[in-house]
Amino acid sequence: MSMRFIEKIMHLEIGSEFHIEKSDLKEIKCIIESVNYRVAKPVIEYIVFPSNCAFPICPKCKITFEGNYQKHCDRCGQMLKWISEKKVRYIFWNER
Ligand SMILES: [Zn+2]
Repeated sequence: MSMRFIEKIMHLEIGSEFHIEKSDLKEIKCIIESVNYRVAKPVIEYIVFPSNCAFPICPKCKITFEGNYQKHCDRCGQMLKWISEKKVRYIFWNER
């Protein structure tokens, strides 16, 4: 994040005009990406292995979890939201 962008934001007051330039948009996306892992994402996919065991997949890094119902992915830190296993998508190992 550039100092120019930080100063532009810090000098904003209610009612002041803010013109978004292409470089600002890049900075804003960078900020959102840096905090996005703190917004809970639903775990919507499970991988079914040939042994018929199904493991949930992190919605961000797509790596399987060994257990269920943890609050965060232990690899990428993504905050997780667990939904009913009846609503998730099961992907069979040989279909990947
Ligand atoms: Zn992850």
